[in-house]
Amino acid sequence: MGGEKRVGLTTTIPVEILFAAEKVPADLNNIFINSLERNMFLAKAEAVGFPRNTCGWIKGIYGVTVEEGIGEVVAVTQGDCSNTHALMEVLQTEGVRIFPFAYPYDQDRNLLGLQIEKMMGHFGVTPAQVREAKEILDRVRTKVQEIDRLTWQEGVVTGFENHYFLVSTSDMNGDWRKFEEEVDRFLSEVKGRRPPSDGIRLGYLGVPPIFTDLYECLEGLGGRVVFNEVQRQFSMPFSTNDIVEQYLLYTYPYSIFARLEDIKREVRRREIEGLIHYVQAFCFRQIEDIILRREINVPILSIEGDRPSPIDARTRLRLESFVEMLRHRKQDWIYR
Ligand code: SF4
Repeated sequence: MGGEKRVGLTTTIPVEILFAAEKVPADLNNIFINSLERNMFLAKAEAVGFPRNTCGWIKGIYGVTVEEGIGEVVAVTQGDCSNTHALMEVLQTEGVRIFPFAYPYDQDRNLLGLQIEKMMGHFGVTPAQVREAKEILDRVRTKVQEIDRLTWQEGVVTGFENHYFLVSTSDMNGDWRKFEEEVDRFLSEVKGRRPPSDGIRLGYLGVPPIFTDLYECLEGLGGRVVFNEVQRQFSMPFSTNDIVEQYLLYTYPYSIFARLEDIKREVRRREIEGLIHYVQAFCFRQIEDIILRREINVPILSIEGDRPSPIDARTRLRLESFVEMLRHRKQDWIYR
């Protein structure tokens, strides 16, 4: 992929603008976690001085940006992670151009509108070009939302497949045409599938997992992930013609209360029996676990990951006990 055309992103941003500007968006998190070199990216960050107790994603993003020679990054300075500030500054000293983008915490429409306008100005695109890009991306998103529906309603898509397609919508894997073809192929393939026998219906909350085999592990234990909360938000699961409205409805960058509403609604709709709350080591979002436990009325298991690796023995045991507990609970309910 062409060097200067590639623009890194530290989390979901109005990617319509990058496509309208004929750039190649590159979600640095996805590149990091999908690469076989992921541990080398971390080592690279630690070698230049990133502390061991910094989140693995931040170090991974640094490693990817430097190793892949990404010259420009859109960095979300509000609504994602305060570590991004220092990361951006380090990258700037290494010659990477940074465009800061801020989601207003209070979901102020005017402030978000200004941020989007500023980004359009920076990348030299008009509202009409962005609208055109939005129409295309919305068509792809609708297909990915069908994959999501096939996961929870028909049971023919696995939790990992669901995760993969939803999480990829942040940058459409850098090429919306190829990604749309991949989605189309997948949709025709799953048509012939038969739903597996019933499993325990699980929801996954929190940032995408740094574990490499979480979904396989849960399925091996008889669980079925039918809701990937944040990944689903990346796919903008709401219909609107207005780009500002779209990024206001997107829950992840705002307060936990916007997320809570969405989680509660989906837990009911998808008949979820238990939730896995994934938290990243050294992440401030761990504190939000308190609110999730207070506000959500289904059993929650919180698990923590640090570096990219298969699930460790202790976490596997906890997942096993959790799924087993949910199975007993379900049986008690059926025979009551
Ligand atoms: S997991 Fe937490 S600490 Fe790490 S980048 Fe995301 S928000 Fe920041």
